[in-house]
Amino acid sequence: MLSIIIPSYNEEQNIKNTAKTVLDIMDRAEIDCELVFVSDGSKDNTFDIIHSLSLENPQIKGIEFSRNFGKEAAIFAGLSKGNGDCFVVMDCDLQHPPETIVEMYRLWEQGYEIIEGVKNTRGNESVFHKALANTFYKILSSLTGFDMKNTSDFKLLDKKVVNVLCSMPERKTFFRALTFWTGFQSTTVCYDVAERNLGTSKWSGKSLLRYAISNIISFSSSPLNIVTYLGVISVLFGIIIGIQTLVRFFIGAALGGFTTVILLMLILCGCILIGLGLIGKYLAAMYDEIKKRPKYIIEKDTDDMRKGNSSWIKTSLTK
Ligand code: UDP
Ligand code: MG
Repeated sequence: MLSIIIPSYNEEQNIKNTAKTVLDIMDRAEIDCELVFVSDGSKDNTFDIIHSLSLENPQIKGIEFSRNFGKEAAIFAGLSKGNGDCFVVMDCDLQHPPETIVEMYRLWEQGYEIIEGVKNTRGNESVFHKALANTFYKILSSLTGFDMKNTSDFKLLDKKVVNVLCSMPERKTFFRALTFWTGFQSTTVCYDVAERNLGTSKWSGKSLLRYAISNIISFSSSPLNIVTYLGVISVLFGIIIGIQTLVRFFIGAALGGFTTVILLMLILCGCILIGLGLIGKYLAAMYDEIKKRPKYIIEKDTDDMRKGNSSWIKTSLTK
């Protein structure tokens, strides 16, 4: 069976249509599947709709977080919840074309364990959004050594891979890159990003920038090397200026040198503060990991509600 994980945050306009479209396509392709909607602390009727659909169709189930924990947490909760032999993660707004799932499933049947969805085009995004995404993937690819250009969260994973991902103890995850990291046999499928069906994107420029920085920090410690590089450059620069200053002093041509001092102060202070900031980011990331708080808290679960079970509160730690 295929479990289709759909993180949904304030998607009341899309749930019904997405469920119907995906199930129709899976029916036609004769793929046995279940839909797992993860309502990420939605403030609208997203979960109520999921719940009513789950009563009509046992192939549909869902959980609701106690608050918004972010898409990463929603993906991992869905992966823990699904019962399939393989799992697909897709967006609720049908920007990930469901027809591509059939293509991915056929490749899984041929023995591939990870089928990555790679974007042919980035869809209708702003120039800023595209530039940010390209820079982010360039940095990430060079840090991780994997070609992550145009990858997305849209991918099919074998149960084996999902078990490995769900058993990772880290709180701060970066799903997109972690599947590469596991190293299982993988292939790619290209798709065109469709227009968002209904509703609006949940991302602003600022939140995307924050997402990019926090993912790079959670995935790789390489940026810390920047501090060392800055130090080495400062030392080299210092040696050159130092020699020049001494020579001028001994030939009796030493200048007032005030400008040089101010410039050196500014450059060095800048470097030191950048270094401290970067180290601080990693310290904060370690602090977050050490606290060992759960990745998410599940407040409602359609399976438990169907059974009339009222003790719904679960966390990623009680799984
Ligand atoms: N999403 C989520 N939690 C969030 C933000 C988004 O589960 O905090 C879901 C959202 O419902 C959608 C998917 O993640 O199914 C992608 O979000 P969106 O379409 O807003 O992002 P974009 O396609 O613009 O990158
Ligand atoms: Mg979208």
